Amino acid sequence: MFEEKTYRKVRIVFVANVITLAFCLALVLTKAPDESNDQLSLYGMAMVIYGILIAFSIDRRSIYYEILSFIATNAVLGYLYWHTPDSMATILFYFYAVQIALQYNPRYSLIGSMLISCIYIAVSLSQAEGIVENRLSIYMHSLLIINMNVLVQHLSQLEGRALSQSEKVNQLLNQMESSYKMVSSLAEKDELTNLYNYRSFRQRLNEMQPSNIAILLLDVDYFKVFNDSYGHLCGDAVLRDIAIVLKNSLRERDMIFRYGGEEFAVILQCNNEQEIQAAALRISNNIEQHAFHFGDETELHVTVSIGYGIGDEKIKTAEELFKIADDALYNAKDSGRNLIGCPNGEICTSDLSSLLKVM
Ligand code: GH3
Ligand code: MG
Ligand code: MG
Repeated sequence: MFEEKTYRKVRIVFVANVITLAFCLALVLTKAPDESNDQLSLYGMAMVIYGILIAFSIDRRSIYYEILSFIATNAVLGYLYWHTPDSMATILFYFYAVQIALQYNPRYSLIGSMLISCIYIAVSLSQAEGIVENRLSIYMHSLLIINMNVLVQHLSQLEGRALSQSEKVNQLLNQMESSYKMVSSLAEKDELTNLYNYRSFRQRLNEMQPSNIAILLLDVDYFKVFNDSYGHLCGDAVLRDIAIVLKNSLRERDMIFRYGGEEFAVILQCNNEQEIQAAALRISNNIEQHAFHFGDETELHVTVSIGYGIGDEKIKTAEELFKIADDALYNAKDSGRNLIGCPNGEICTSDLSSLLKVM
């Protein structure tokens, strides 16, 4: 957007310069034979050179053309000053030179350009008598047009600077936003498994109506022994893999959490007992059958104990539902592990094939 706007302004400046050049060239070509008109023609020539160069500098956005135009214009100026040191036009050219110099200081360039434009207007209006003065007045007007061009250039430069500042602000805002996202993700996600953590489990649970949901709690069996045998790094890799197996065993809308060390929790948006049992059996089977690899090619296996609770009208709070699932998990552990504890205090005896048609 910024590029387009600036480009449009540069085009306007360019067209205005071409008009000025045509204007000055016409005056140069119609010069009268007397001395003062020759001098005026030289002013015109200087303006032509300046106009061409400034047009290039604006179009190509190069400072070298501006410096070149400054030198060329002032060479003519010096020549004129040598011949007519007290000429009004020469003095005005000096003003112009001051303005060009000011142009390189962003703080003063705009004010300087405005002041000098006012002087040009005043002088132009006062030079209304006689042919020579009229011609001079026309040159002053040409200068005025170029001066206006320079002003437009300044404005677009200032706008460019303002826009680049606002781009920087936007960049900072984006950085802040991504930092915020990272921090909030760290606050709600578990670093090892990238699952939602205990904190977000509690938060989600409190937001939910217990009657419409079910909770699964999983605990890896004999994980301490596993760690002692294969090392904690291997244990970490197993926990990461379990998170993946869980995701693959459940639906997109089921929420999986790492509840604690080797404990996981799932909130299912469903209160159909058969479906919940099928989900628990699928998880149990998938984890049992999953071959964990760590370092060498040895296949390692772990099992999990699961307890579940299903919401109904009698259960008033999500905390109550959690307690049912937790008791069921303890029951599964106490009954020998690698089992699924039901909310009624029994152990699930169904096999997956009989439940497969449910899911
Ligand atoms: P149980 O069948 O009764 O659940 O036995 P268990 O050994 O799994 O249970 P226990 O509570 O005695 O031990 C849990 C183990 O889980 C102990 C701890 O070293 C391990 N553990 C917890 N968090 C992590 C973890 O982030 N990484 C690894 N590698 N191990 C963990
Ligand atoms: Mg445990
Ligand atoms: Mg355990």
